[in-house]
Amino acid sequence: MLPERDSREFRTLLHEEVEKRRTFAIISHPDAGKTTLTEKLLLYGGAIRSAGSVKARKTDKHATSDWMEIEKQRGISVTSSAMQFVYDGYRINILDTPGHQDFSEDTYRVLVAADAAVMLLDAAKGVEAQTIKLFKVCRMRNIPIFTFVNKMDRAAKDPFSLMEELEQVLGIRSCPINWPIGVDGDFQGVYHRDTRMVELYTGGDHGKKMVEKTDISIDDTELEKVLEKHYRDRLAEEVELLDEAGDSFDLEKVRAGELTPMFFGSAVTNFGVEPFLDRFLSFTPPPLPRESDTGIIGPEEPYFSGFIFKIQANMNPAHRDRLAFMRIVSGAFEKGMEVWHSGTNKIVALKQPQQFMADEREAVEEAWAGDIIGLFDPGIYRLGDTLSTGPKMHYANIPVFAPEFFNRVRPMDSMKRKQFQKGISQLAEEGAIQTFIRTETGLEEFMVGVVGVLQFEVLEHRLRTEYQTEIVMEGMPFRHVRWVIKTPKPVEDLKLTSTSGRAKDSHGRDVLLFENEWSIRLAVENNEGLELKETAER
Ligand code: GDP
Repeated sequence: MLPERDSREFRTLLHEEVEKRRTFAIISHPDAGKTTLTEKLLLYGGAIRSAGSVKARKTDKHATSDWMEIEKQRGISVTSSAMQFVYDGYRINILDTPGHQDFSEDTYRVLVAADAAVMLLDAAKGVEAQTIKLFKVCRMRNIPIFTFVNKMDRAAKDPFSLMEELEQVLGIRSCPINWPIGVDGDFQGVYHRDTRMVELYTGGDHGKKMVEKTDISIDDTELEKVLEKHYRDRLAEEVELLDEAGDSFDLEKVRAGELTPMFFGSAVTNFGVEPFLDRFLSFTPPPLPRESDTGIIGPEEPYFSGFIFKIQANMNPAHRDRLAFMRIVSGAFEKGMEVWHSGTNKIVALKQPQQFMADEREAVEEAWAGDIIGLFDPGIYRLGDTLSTGPKMHYANIPVFAPEFFNRVRPMDSMKRKQFQKGISQLAEEGAIQTFIRTETGLEEFMVGVVGVLQFEVLEHRLRTEYQTEIVMEGMPFRHVRWVIKTPKPVEDLKLTSTSGRAKDSHGRDVLLFENEWSIRLAVENNEGLELKETAER
């Protein structure tokens, strides 16, 4: 039992619990080593006993067109959606997402629940396509971004050119906290600029094993015995250059997302992971406040509040169960609590609250601002819903990302229309797909839009297995959707290129569909006063 909410005892406890919490997501391009790094972090936190327990559950990402893989991905993503572990007095929530790049909208949405991001780069590849997309989402919210350059034990790009890449491609300045010694397959270790310590990598084989390390101060005369002169010389030169020409560390800029602290290491060999974790935890903020329609709500408001950012249904096909993931924004959650729910404007009991470890769920007795918990959903929750024991309010909406692929969809057997609609709306509620109705052709065409094409396969498969409905899909040439914010005349009368289209989204809002960027520009040029937006709010 928690103390009374208006007592001083509760406030003190709330403050302590909030201060310990860190909630973040790892963003990366597939194959950069996200699973490996997550696993190492869990190992340090004692959440798993041996390496391999997360890995073994992961599917082969290359078998993308196999629906079995999709199923497996879903099975894993629920347990790994949010994992909690304790390390050095901190309570850490890692938000994870399925590794496949076609599940990206899900990834985007999860970032709304994070207070910081670790941007993981493959040292040989640098900034990749998926990194850019995810980075942009973090930028929208100005959350702190930490860069971990992974796979330093292998051939790698020059660290200075990686810094330049961050600036050129992502537009963010970086501040290396440590610096690699010997690169491009000749990795010797790192130098920690803040403590002036050299950490040497002494494992014999630069392969997959965990390595041993030696710590020695850069000012120690013994250093020359363990690190050859040419490494020392080069390090001295590079560090001098960094000190003179590089950005100095500025915590305020880091927390505003304007400067990314940069770390070098190798997750698979465990090298550089622990020093990274220590600094990451001390530089990242405790749970951040969130915007609501009644103002900014901080974590230490004494009432409980939170929002739903992810819904996962039918994990167990026999039970049609739905799990709603909530980020707690303020106060404390206690088992059996009754709270106001924005979606129904009713008081609801939060059923079967659960938290997640590496591969198991456990019942939650209490949870605090910053935590992520899963709730049993009797079918009432929608993405973006707010729950509160304080004021009736709504947290800022979860953004809807613009789909890039569109298919016309109908049930093969028209007798199955009802099942079809039920399945489609279920998937739309989960946020896996977006639906549109296009009437300009004279027919009522039902369209589904997705961020990654694999979602079409998920749609087909889930309608078949969960709703016993076969569907017919036809690809459409559109690649862009824009929501109409302001229009000088009825949408039907807008002057558009012949390949553009008009439709309504599931809320009845007008959208325009385009094949290319060029026709979007023309639409704006040819219709003075027309305002379009790339994303809509839920
Ligand atoms: P994810 O797709 O980002 O989750 O990547 P994984 O964690 O599955 O890693 C992809 C591959 O890179 C696996 O074969 C890992 O063993 C390997 N890997 C991960 N970290 C490192 C590292 O630091 N060095 C090397 N050489 N390989 C790594």
